[in-house]
Amino acid sequence: MSKCNRSRLREATSTPPTDAERCDFLQKVAIGQATGCWEWARCLDTGGYGNAWFRGTNWRAHRVSWFLFRGSLPVDDLVLHKCDNRSCVNPEHLFLGDHSVNMADMRTKERCVEQHHNCRLTREDVLEIIRLAQGGGMTQAAIGSRFGIGDATVNNILRGRRWLHVTRGALQYRTVTGATGGSRGRRPGKTELAGQRSLFPEGGA
Ligand SMILES: [Zn+2]
Repeated sequence: MSKCNRSRLREATSTPPTDAERCDFLQKVAIGQATGCWEWARCLDTGGYGNAWFRGTNWRAHRVSWFLFRGSLPVDDLVLHKCDNRSCVNPEHLFLGDHSVNMADMRTKERCVEQHHNCRLTREDVLEIIRLAQGGGMTQAAIGSRFGIGDATVNNILRGRRWLHVTRGALQYRTVTGATGGSRGRRPGKTELAGQRSLFPEGGA
């Protein structure tokens, strides 16, 4: 955050929040019955966070919420979501943290996603899938049936749409060949093309 922004926010939060401000804020909130999230019912920014105009400044709405319901806002701290819902402004779903807390929080959530949505595969399975695809001897459908998953899931893994945090190193081969074959204007050699075809037999790597 720039010095200018910081002093502007410090200025905007220099007097305590009032009941009138809290009431006004709550007019712009819809409470989710199942989640308990307070959904921001006005503009969202491109990142999905609520946008709020407050005391002459444009804010992220969840930061305003922290200020209104906690009474102060340390300008150097991030206000983070426990509920992972960026448009939520429920102060009970928020916590303060710095950048390192934010990174640790993201890693924890990534692990949870891995456990819940990809439970049929282990990290070792995923790397084996890449190895088999790069070997070129099996179709994506055949690889999928070996691991009890569909060929679309295999394709997503090979294209880095799933499990990228595990496969980044193994898939680098594709990125490197893509870059040398494309953006630098050099025609790819035979080996590189063979590699791409075996990874993406349907074409269009
Ligand atoms: Zn929430």
